[in-house]
Amino acid sequence: MTAAIDGPAAWRADTPGAESAIHLNACGAALMPNPVVDRVKAHLDLEARIGGYEAQAEVADELAAAYGSAARLLNARAHEIAFVENATRAWDMAFYALPLGPGDVVLTAVAEYASNFIAFLQMQRRRGVEIRIVPDDADGALDPAALRAMIDDRVKLIAITHVPTNGGLVNPAAAVGAIAREAGIPFLLDACQSVGQMPVDVAAIGCTMLSATGRKFLRGPRGTGFLYVREDWIERLEPPFLDLHAARWTGADSFEIAGDATRFENWEFDVAGRLGLKMAIDYALDIGPDRIAARIGDLATRLRDGLGALPGVTVRDKGRQRCGIVTFTHDRLAATDLVAQLGREGVRLTVSGAGSTRLDMDGRGVDGFARAGLHVYNSEAEVDAAIAAIARL
Ligand SMILES: *Cc1c(COP(=O)(O)O)cnc(C)c1O
Repeated sequence: MTAAIDGPAAWRADTPGAESAIHLNACGAALMPNPVVDRVKAHLDLEARIGGYEAQAEVADELAAAYGSAARLLNARAHEIAFVENATRAWDMAFYALPLGPGDVVLTAVAEYASNFIAFLQMQRRRGVEIRIVPDDADGALDPAALRAMIDDRVKLIAITHVPTNGGLVNPAAAVGAIAREAGIPFLLDACQSVGQMPVDVAAIGCTMLSATGRKFLRGPRGTGFLYVREDWIERLEPPFLDLHAARWTGADSFEIAGDATRFENWEFDVAGRLGLKMAIDYALDIGPDRIAARIGDLATRLRDGLGALPGVTVRDKGRQRCGIVTFTHDRLAATDLVAQLGREGVRLTVSGAGSTRLDMDGRGVDGFARAGLHVYNSEAEVDAAIAAIARL
């Protein structure tokens, strides 16, 4: 345990990158805390000294414990967790495992992420699956009442994003889960931007499957992600790919697929990265997802309010429940120019382009937002400095 659990000053002091620039990019790749960086480096050193397989054997218990850590974070069970390379692959392993066929309907949300939507379109083209979009409510989040009205016998999947990549809104995942459960329809939740940022409880939400990434709000290493599949659905989902880790070759013409969520994994993985991810999860649990959400919420509100008061700047976040992603546009500057200019001043934001959430962005007639992602290592002073820098543009 580190001093990092003690509050904002300690969280910041525990983040080596925090002083070099104003890093407002937790929604792209957050800054890793020291224990995560140290854990990854130490394992690389061990691999260099004694060899990759030998190093893995030495950390076998820690690797096994990673399932328990991820399960604790999500209020799941260890055998419901699969570790994969990123959130997209996690989501894919669940989505492409579903036996969708001609005329089956997938219900999704307006702000659905590009990679997910491309997969829907591929299955529309390949198998005749039908995509239906649940409209937003007056505040711009998915409308659960509209979703309920769209349920019929043909709906075979509800797949939505918890926190869209292009804005501060939090979709009402638990309301969706209640509807999905009542109708007996599987619910795949893209929690890539919410896990690590706020408490995410799969039992309370009622999702069947959930995908998450390591490098965003969880502050883990790049190239890490995980999938949750609820116990009663694991054996109903045949993974799109199998290998000798996900299954056992039991005879000349037989194989047996793993009975737990490791059926969605593959054999080779970045051991150092997974140890770093476990450390990042444990670190988030040490601070506490509630405290993380509260701190991020305070900073995001400060940024949103400050930007909202600037002439020529329009905050673009929708929804009643907001989070640590703050998006905005500028009257005179394209998002790419704005972000480039701020980068030269040491304020790191990203652009959320239309191609990431096309239905939402095309509907709003914009081709990109400047996007900030706050985290516990950011300070009020940084938020104020970022607002001042934007005011000077
Ligand atoms: C970033 C993001 C993803 C993709 O995550 P990867 O780890 O890059 O695969 C999926 N969904 C949303 C909403 C995202 O913001």
